[in-house]
Amino acid sequence: MTCKFCKADLQPENFAQPRQCAFRSGVFNSDNWMCDLMSQLRYAAIGESEEKLHQTTDGESCLVLPIPEEAETCTGFLVMTMYKRRGCTGQALIMCDDDEPTHLTLSQAEEILSLLKFSHKRNIADSERSLTQQIPLQPEPCKDGGP
Ligand SMILES: [Zn+2]
Repeated sequence: MTCKFCKADLQPENFAQPRQCAFRSGVFNSDNWMCDLMSQLRYAAIGESEEKLHQTTDGESCLVLPIPEEAETCTGFLVMTMYKRRGCTGQALIMCDDDEPTHLTLSQAEEILSLLKFSHKRNIADSERSLTQQIPLQPEPCKDGGP
């Protein structure tokens, strides 16, 4: 078993070896490399700048991704660790205030990513809508009266 992203492109041309999906058993496994689903979640957690990256002096990082409130399987945070920006994600835990931490499952990971992409598209649609609202609905009449 792999996530659908690893399945779609198990060995990109520039990779020296095939991806090692983090969800081979359906639950996160720290023996992974370049799992594309984990890469996308890591990228979503890091964001545009690196100010959300919590780093130790020896290169270990912790990434915290708030889980969208629409998620059915869980709420709280997805907490991930990695060493420098290498291809392996060390840990991926779901942490909520009321429950013990659990390992991220494939279905949770897919749901979180799809909700993040949906809300990102919705934000883009909202900003496009506000742009069009700045355009006057009635164009100015032609001063010369037109042809
Ligand atoms: Zn994968």
